Amino acid sequence: MALPTQADDFPGWYQEVVKQAGLAENSLARGTMVIKPYGFGIWEAIQRAVDDRIKASGHVNLYFPMFIPSHLLEREKEHVEGFAPEVAVVTHAGGEDLEEPLVVRPTSETIIWSTYAKWIQSYRDLPLLYNQWCNVVRWELRPRLFLRTTEFLWQEGHTAHETADDAMHETLMILHEVYLDAYEKVMAIPPHPGRKTAAERFPGAVETYTLEALMRDRKALQSCTSHYLGQNFAKAYGVKFLGREGTEELAYATSWGLSTRAVGAVIMTHGDDKGLRLPPALAPTQAVVVPIYRNDDERSRVLEAAEKLVHGLGVRAHVDDRDDLRPGYKFNDWELKGVPVRIELGPRDLDESQAVLVRRDIGEKETVSLDAVGKRIEDLLADIQSTLYDQAREFRDASTFRPASYDELRSLVEDPGGFIVAPWCGSPECEAKVKADTKATIRFLPVEPGGDFGRCIVDGAPAAEEATWAQAY
Ligand SMILES: [Zn+2]
Repeated sequence: MALPTQADDFPGWYQEVVKQAGLAENSLARGTMVIKPYGFGIWEAIQRAVDDRIKASGHVNLYFPMFIPSHLLEREKEHVEGFAPEVAVVTHAGGEDLEEPLVVRPTSETIIWSTYAKWIQSYRDLPLLYNQWCNVVRWELRPRLFLRTTEFLWQEGHTAHETADDAMHETLMILHEVYLDAYEKVMAIPPHPGRKTAAERFPGAVETYTLEALMRDRKALQSCTSHYLGQNFAKAYGVKFLGREGTEELAYATSWGLSTRAVGAVIMTHGDDKGLRLPPALAPTQAVVVPIYRNDDERSRVLEAAEKLVHGLGVRAHVDDRDDLRPGYKFNDWELKGVPVRIELGPRDLDESQAVLVRRDIGEKETVSLDAVGKRIEDLLADIQSTLYDQAREFRDASTFRPASYDELRSLVEDPGGFIVAPWCGSPECEAKVKADTKATIRFLPVEPGGDFGRCIVDGAPAAEEATWAQAY
């Protein structure tokens, strides 16, 4: 089944790639998905990359329950209002109506900070550097596999600190050293770190920081967030501690999350008209051998050599020994699945002690002697990893525009789309006007506020910020 091209029908292309590559499918309850083994393998590699970095920066994992007594959610007003439309509530269980309904966690600040109130007594108890991997539920009206699902998997970090400086340092450290590093080095995606406007902030946060990546259809994808929560949650949940000077203080909070949406980012950053292109660091299979034979004698000879080759490779490799399928079908199938290197091996290759290697990223083919295949594949995987990153970065930069007028901004959002960078006065009215006129939102402001940016692109008032607009997922 041919894929729609990205240029003709990007949403259709996405949907078919997810389906045909065996990544995920819709399940029975509205907005929920089954993550299939190949898709879960990609998620596990992302998880590993993020978890390693979370732990390397001094955090440990723990686990909080998914049910939250509903009164807890009421305490942080902005937070509860922000999440109210998306929250699922259990009112009936064990054959009877519950005395107090239970919220299925949309995120866990409330249950965690009500527990931290018991764990934090003195400045000596701080900081708490905790993270959990779990599922959350946010009722989704327009679900799309990986991008917006009613239930999704993620990690949520929740840290408590003695000072505002410590908490802000944590918020930005996570953004750069955990998330940006994992996106760049493992997912081969070059997102922009930035700060959200008040309108786009996490409910209850003082500042929300983000990584915004540009997909191949020139729409932005918010790829994770890191929040500086100030003392809002400590106030709401009574997290007080005895400070160094003997006075009672409120703890400072951060929270930060990255979800299965990251799989969607990988698909839409690297995929092409043939299907997925997986960065080798993420690929469940890094190299696949497609054996070529016409009869049983050739079959046993080629398969034996293929197995031997794969065992000596030292990368995640696999022999496609499906007998009912022709090599041409298998080539397409592994291209669709985005496996970085294909190895073609037939009787004539064995006579010459060689194999044919084909790169998925740029389609280049080369013949390599059998004893050099291992080293060559190692080099190719490294080169494919950096080529995918470079291509994504070039695409992002070539799709970034600086309009000189509001009319130009409007027409750029319309066609071709991409990141539109322009001065902004900081007023919510100008932000709302752009959204109403173009559906583009401010994806991010620079991490550090301030500077002289001339005049607001919308109303000509003195600009306080340089904003980056885009239509977004
Ligand atoms: Zn303005």
